[in-house]
Amino acid sequence: RHRSEQHNIGGPAKLPASVLAQAQKEMVNYKNTGVSVMELSHRSSDFTKILTGGGTGQFSALPLNLLALKPSMSADYVVTGSWSAKAAQEAAKYGKVNLVLPKTKKYTDIPDPSTWTLNPEASYLYYCANETIHGVEFQHIPEFCGVPLIADMSSNILTRDIDVSKFGAIFAGAQKNIGCAGVTLVIIREDLIGKALPICPIIFEFQVQVGNNSLYNTPPTYSIYIMGLVFEWILEQGGVAKMEEWAIKKSSAVYDVIDCSNGFYVCPLDKGCRSRMNIPFRIGSAQGDEALEKKFIQEAENAKLISLKGHRSVGGIRVSLYNAVTVDETLVLVQFMKDFMARYR
Ligand code: PMP
Repeated sequence: RHRSEQHNIGGPAKLPASVLAQAQKEMVNYKNTGVSVMELSHRSSDFTKILTGGGTGQFSALPLNLLALKPSMSADYVVTGSWSAKAAQEAAKYGKVNLVLPKTKKYTDIPDPSTWTLNPEASYLYYCANETIHGVEFQHIPEFCGVPLIADMSSNILTRDIDVSKFGAIFAGAQKNIGCAGVTLVIIREDLIGKALPICPIIFEFQVQVGNNSLYNTPPTYSIYIMGLVFEWILEQGGVAKMEEWAIKKSSAVYDVIDCSNGFYVCPLDKGCRSRMNIPFRIGSAQGDEALEKKFIQEAENAKLISLKGHRSVGGIRVSLYNAVTVDETLVLVQFMKDFMARYR
């Protein structure tokens, strides 16, 4: 199949076509150096400005580096989906974890911050800005006086304008909006560095990474190179503002079909926290008609719309509208959803 014939609207790692074309060109001979980009030394100047780490690794790295910021050795976790739940579970190995919200498995809303049970002595307050599986996205930055705020932005970084100065740390795996798998971006406030627990593995120690320009060990050079190309691509398109404009346009088009379907498509999420990136929905009823959903996925594939199967833990359908998914591709999906509804309702 030719690439231009497939619309990858659900997969985790879509890249802009122009980025892939450039990577293909530079695969064998990078910028006329006579060597492949994968053969370049990571000590060359091109690779010295980016922090790396590991995706799920940050679930461990953050508590290991930050729990000791306060004598409480306790951290507040806002659990709004399975990724923040995993992060909280991991942190509990190293210190105390206070769950700010009542326990639930439903993950369809964000309770009002006035109801959160926050601990003013917490070392940090952790949340996931966009829950990739459940589709819960914060539309505002939660704040709690004096307690450093930590955010997992793995699935929505560079898709909306944010005030970085409000955070103690932000981390994001690259493979959704800013590159391919293998590299994790960590932004951390300098004054939070240097209090790692003695058991912290050296590769996770922020102070060691910062002191070595993120080059304490051999970094994933090719993934960093691709991330650089994606950053350039984002700037050429008009920056984060443009990504945000597209994200609003794309997600509104899909939510409009759902909301005007009279219950044929059902998105379980509270409207105040609906994600612009990941839209999970069921077909036929709130519980989902599995036979109809199977038909949807099959017919979508026939129409070149791929990767729409929902995550196995929630079932149904999931649309993912990462930066590299175009408005036009989204409109192909929207038309398909309308046609499918007309055929089967
Ligand atoms: N956080 C979020 C919000 C994610 O979506 C993911 C992966 N999908 C992770 C963390 C884990 O990242 P990785 O798979 O790179 O370990």
